Amino acid sequence: MDLFEYQAKELFAAHGVPVLPGVVVTTPEQARDAAAELGGAVVVKAQVKAGGRGKAGGVKLAQNADEAYQKAQAILGMDIKGHTVHRVLVTQASDIESEYYFSFLLDRTNRTFLAMASAEGGVEIEQVAVENPDALAKVPVNPIDGVDLELAKDILTQGKFPLEVIEPAAHAVVKLWAAFLAEDATLMEINPLVKTPAGDIVALDGKVTLDANAAFRHPDHERFADSDAVDPLERAAKEKNLNYVKLDGEVGIIGNGAGLVMSTLDVVAYAGESFGGVKPANFLDIGGGANATVMANGLEVILSDASVRSVFVNVFGGITACDQVAHGILQALQLMEQRGETVTKPLVVRLDGNNVEVGRKILDAARHPLVEQVATMDGAAQRAAELAATGGRA
Ligand code: GDP
Ligand code: MN
Repeated sequence: MDLFEYQAKELFAAHGVPVLPGVVVTTPEQARDAAAELGGAVVVKAQVKAGGRGKAGGVKLAQNADEAYQKAQAILGMDIKGHTVHRVLVTQASDIESEYYFSFLLDRTNRTFLAMASAEGGVEIEQVAVENPDALAKVPVNPIDGVDLELAKDILTQGKFPLEVIEPAAHAVVKLWAAFLAEDATLMEINPLVKTPAGDIVALDGKVTLDANAAFRHPDHERFADSDAVDPLERAAKEKNLNYVKLDGEVGIIGNGAGLVMSTLDVVAYAGESFGGVKPANFLDIGGGANATVMANGLEVILSDASVRSVFVNVFGGITACDQVAHGILQALQLMEQRGETVTKPLVVRLDGNNVEVGRKILDAARHPLVEQVATMDGAAQRAAELAATGGRA
């Protein structure tokens, strides 16, 4: 999970990494009040999960509260790299003597953690890495040993930080490592880490990625969940404990087993090419032992997707045999009618595997007007794509 700057700074502050006070707001009026509260000059900063906000005009200095109002008005609603700005951070402005770069991250390739440091901060670090790789120190960090003051100083020395900055910056680095460890982050980046004319070290920006696999250890991280960004269908699916990902096509997909569903997406996308570029509308894996309720829940989510025009149910019977799956599909359709959901979109069902003959007979015997069986995966994908393209009239 990626955090907004204001959330990253909240974590920094909690672990003693120096940041300046700030308030996150959603209207120009609130920005004016926040600036008045903070007193003096402030910086108004777009809160979007994208870098380069400064260059895009999403970071603006305001000398007083009225200027903060104007800057917030200009920034709110702005589009930065495809992200609409809904919130701005109003934060105490800092004088800057020099800007540095520092980060901790998970280095998957080398199966370790990595510290990166550069005296050439402020600018985009990818650019430094390409144009002047020697200016960016990359130092592996052993998670068992961690980062003490000695190592912090060593990393900063390799990053060519000026001598007088190394000692104070090293204290911030040790705290950042503690934060990285305690919060189960895979990235904590400060760009710029600045030295003020008074000699203070401050994190003026913050970028944090938390490890979703460790979320169970951090119930408090739930507060960072970005409800704006979550697709309403994905939210509904999550509430039903379904393994669902929204995509932008027209063929709803239900399958059992992640591998089967992944390949179903491929065959549908391929088949769809012959029908004007019809594509899968979602990923949905109902798992190996899915019963009628799970099937009904899955169908409900898929059929409530306005862009879905046909549904492809692709099941390979294993632990749950095909006869049970067939009953499950029929019960699911019944269940949905009982819930008052009228099903109007055609379902193409491909059953194979354990007890397939019986399963197919059950569906044939039911003669449900919306259910059509196709024996092969490719054939079923073809038919589902065709139905999606023709709106069921074919
Ligand atoms: P980014 O462009 O998305 O990385 O946003 P940053 O938070 O890094 O801000 C971009 C640049 O704005 C920084 O590199 C600083 O040069 C400048 N900046 C940000 N905050 C302040 C501040 O409090 N005072 C001053 N003078 N400049 C700031
Ligand atoms: Mn930055």
